[in-house]
Amino acid sequence: MADFYDILGISKSATAAEIKKAYRKKAIEFHPDKNPGDETAEENFKKAAEAYETLSDQQKKARYDQLGHQAYTSGGAGGFGGGGGGFGGMDMDDIFSQFGDIFGGGGFSGFGGGGGFGGGGRRRVKGKDLRIRVSLTLEEAAVGVEKKVKVKRKKQAPGVTYKTCTTCGGSGQVTRIQNTILGRMQTSAPCNVCGGAGQTMDKKPAGADAQGLVIDEETVSIKIPAGVESDMRLKVSGKGNEAPGNGISGDLLVDIEVKEHAELQREGNNLHYDLYVSVPEAVLGTTKEIQTVTGKVRIPIEAGIQSGKILRLRGKGMPNVNGYATGDLLVHVNVWTPRNLSRDQKEFFESMMADSHFEPAPEKGDKSFFEKVKDMFS
Ligand code: ZN
Repeated sequence: MADFYDILGISKSATAAEIKKAYRKKAIEFHPDKNPGDETAEENFKKAAEAYETLSDQQKKARYDQLGHQAYTSGGAGGFGGGGGGFGGMDMDDIFSQFGDIFGGGGFSGFGGGGGFGGGGRRRVKGKDLRIRVSLTLEEAAVGVEKKVKVKRKKQAPGVTYKTCTTCGGSGQVTRIQNTILGRMQTSAPCNVCGGAGQTMDKKPAGADAQGLVIDEETVSIKIPAGVESDMRLKVSGKGNEAPGNGISGDLLVDIEVKEHAELQREGNNLHYDLYVSVPEAVLGTTKEIQTVTGKVRIPIEAGIQSGKILRLRGKGMPNVNGYATGDLLVHVNVWTPRNLSRDQKEFFESMMADSHFEPAPEKGDKSFFEKVKDMFS
């Protein structure tokens, strides 16, 4: 599958300026106005916009580079629940609103005889996205969880009515002819009377704001998939602020925070656990109860185990957020050396000082902790 770099025809080391330039080129090449009725061109136009949307944002780009194309576009980056589906949340309005940044000026709209893009009428006004932060335990992140949150959203006040804007005649845009890099074009800017909505408030209920909106607290249910990590963002479509008139609602953007676990450290999909065994346990062998994200398991500790040994419990780590695989739980064995001994105990160990059984004689399988870790992640 072509990744975002391929789509823009650039290398991974491209600078911000190169990314912008490459996108500009693609946007012109595949612009729907230059390729009327060509669905492939339109598809390429959208793909380029999506690629640019991610690569032009330092945080998104870092996340993309880290996760890879497949994982990024199918999960971690958001686009989830509420019918959003997949990350590809850019519609033509989003793309054209991006153009202000790319081409300078107020963006394009009203191509081809004033009909708006694709002849489909004017751009619809979208309500503001809202952001919340949801915090969950590692155990919740391991299996997925549904969280109910209270969100204060702006909604159209009961009884409010809207009428067609007299300034723009309902188009939401005031147009003018301008010379642009695509040639002489009809460009347009949002109508400043209706704010681009094409409608103004007709009847204003008591308590409504200038757009006819009131703030309402709503409980929103958010399905959080198993395997999420801190700093991932989910999107619940349509649960942001409502827009006035016949505009569309914004989205609710959910920033995930997975709390630190008291005993388990997470590293990607793997978990680490520090196990302490006593000297007699290490010498004689035993069994130990281990904390996992889905409960406790008992594991055998073989006689003569060395401090620094890492035991791998397959599949006891975190699931991948895309559902491909589950990580492991790595149990780090630490032999606990007693600090205070009775006289008898001290005498026993003193008598062992010259005993060859206590003489360190590491074998290949007893490599140091750091060497093991290096092996494991190389
Ligand atoms: Zn207007």
